Amino acid sequence: MGKLIVGTAMVNDISQLHNISDKLLFDEDSVASVSNDFGNLVLEVPSAVLHPSSIADIIDLIKFSNKCSTPFGVSARGCGHSVRGQAAARGGGVVVDMSSLRGKGIGVRVSWDPSSGHYYADAGGEQLWMDVLRAALEHGLAPVSWTDYLYLSVGGTLSNGGISGQSFLHGPQITNVLELDVITGKGDLLTCSHHINSDLFFAVLGGLGQFGIITRARIILHKAPTRAKWVRLLYSDFSTFTRDQEHLISCKKGPDYVEGSLITPQSPPNNWRSSFYSSSQLSKITSFLKRKKNGHGLLYSIEFVKYYDKQTADTIDEEIEAVVEELNFIPGLLFMKDVPLVDFLGRVKRQDTDRSEGQLEETHPWLNLFVPKSRILDFNAGVFVDIIARHNLSSGPILFYPSNKKKWDCRMSAVVPDEDVFYTLGLLHSSTRNDAEYFDELNNEIIEFCEKSGIEIKQYLPHYKSREDWMKHFGPRWETFQETKNRFDPRMILSPGQRIFND
Ligand SMILES: Cc1cc2nc3c(=O)[nH]c(=O)nc-3n(C[C@H](O)[C@H](O)[C@H](O)COP(=O)(O)OP(=O)(O)OC[C@H]3O[C@@H](n4cnc5c(N)ncnc54)[C@H](O)[C@@H]3O)c2cc1C
Repeated sequence: MGKLIVGTAMVNDISQLHNISDKLLFDEDSVASVSNDFGNLVLEVPSAVLHPSSIADIIDLIKFSNKCSTPFGVSARGCGHSVRGQAAARGGGVVVDMSSLRGKGIGVRVSWDPSSGHYYADAGGEQLWMDVLRAALEHGLAPVSWTDYLYLSVGGTLSNGGISGQSFLHGPQITNVLELDVITGKGDLLTCSHHINSDLFFAVLGGLGQFGIITRARIILHKAPTRAKWVRLLYSDFSTFTRDQEHLISCKKGPDYVEGSLITPQSPPNNWRSSFYSSSQLSKITSFLKRKKNGHGLLYSIEFVKYYDKQTADTIDEEIEAVVEELNFIPGLLFMKDVPLVDFLGRVKRQDTDRSEGQLEETHPWLNLFVPKSRILDFNAGVFVDIIARHNLSSGPILFYPSNKKKWDCRMSAVVPDEDVFYTLGLLHSSTRNDAEYFDELNNEIIEFCEKSGIEIKQYLPHYKSREDWMKHFGPRWETFQETKNRFDPRMILSPGQRIFND
């Protein structure tokens, strides 16, 4: 049997793939549509793209790759919202466009398990979190752990972690899953959970697509609140800002959501992530910034939310007051909104990934890091006050907020710093193609600063170029990660775009 390559050789090989031959597309446009991603930084052209109409189609493809003397890579693509080609399948591989299963697979089914008392949603790995929300709300239910942006696929975020301001309370999305159906790198379709095939279950969650393609996830649901009190508070002092954030993630009767961000001349208060402030509020913030004399032109902003419904509508204002009373923000710089739950969860509007119209030039050289709490003062001095303040190109949102490690499950593949509390940094730069290199240098400067200062950061949505960097990333868990790969994907077929086992 030959190997899967473009052109006529492929025609010979796929004669054995009669079930899916008409769903494998080789034409330039189809292949181009999966060669790029949200980052718009890496162009990696696969041999073909599979538009599956069933799970069996994906199994056929993976089994076929296994039969080849030199197997080809197979990469599931949720929405292609990676920024460094993580869902790509260069070098003769095939991208599985999971979106083709929408409307054909199980969709999102809401149920109740009388033995555990859990409500849950069974969602296809290809489903968008926005669709999970809509389906659950029809039953007055909702997942508890989210990403800031809901037009991401279930399989894509569960392969990373799925984090947002709810993670401190409920853990990341990966810790709110009861069961998975997974197609392994050998082409076996397995159900796994805490109790069945648990090695596979824990490996796949946060496993960067290395062990299997998630085709169904059973997601925990709770009774949905209906509205959200959405508060932002501004700080000029970093220590006070982080002390208050840590207070919020530890207090009883505290918020349901806590995040934070930086406001700088290059990273204004309103941005694509949310336009929270009215124009009069913006003027108030701008005039404060002009009067401010702390020299580095930075403001820090806490964002917290408390949900409520009809039953708690009478007491929610008192509850918010009690929370705010404990905090030391700049007097007068508190801003509040009262919005329906869906408006809050859906606050980040759908991002255009169409590269054909005016989008060609926009790139997203993002950097996401977890920073151990014990070093955040050094991190602020070295990264925010020095490196970021020195660079003067307009960039994008800069997120910085804490999480509790105890809400993560160390049996899962996702890696976080070894401290009870760690912060998430999200440097969500948007840039022109010409400036992308500049932001890469900025990102590298930050990583090098942390290395030199002994700040043991971990990358989230990681991107490394060498095996050594991956080994360092996983630390003592590298061996298990590698052994599990050998068990479930021994021919190194899955998600080659992560460049862990396929250099
Ligand atoms: C605007 C925007 C906002 C974001 N906000 C957040 C946020 O708030 N919190 C957060 O945690 N992340 C956030 N992300 C990052 C997001 O979680 C990642 O991009 C993630 O990869 C999900 O995107 P996707 O569904 O498009 O997956 P893709 O980029 O298509 O895939 C990512 C990886 O997962 C693998 N994969 C995809 N589907 C499956 C599957 N079914 N089974 C197994 N492996 C699979 C791919 O092969 C690839 O390796 C954001 C991204 C964008 C663009």
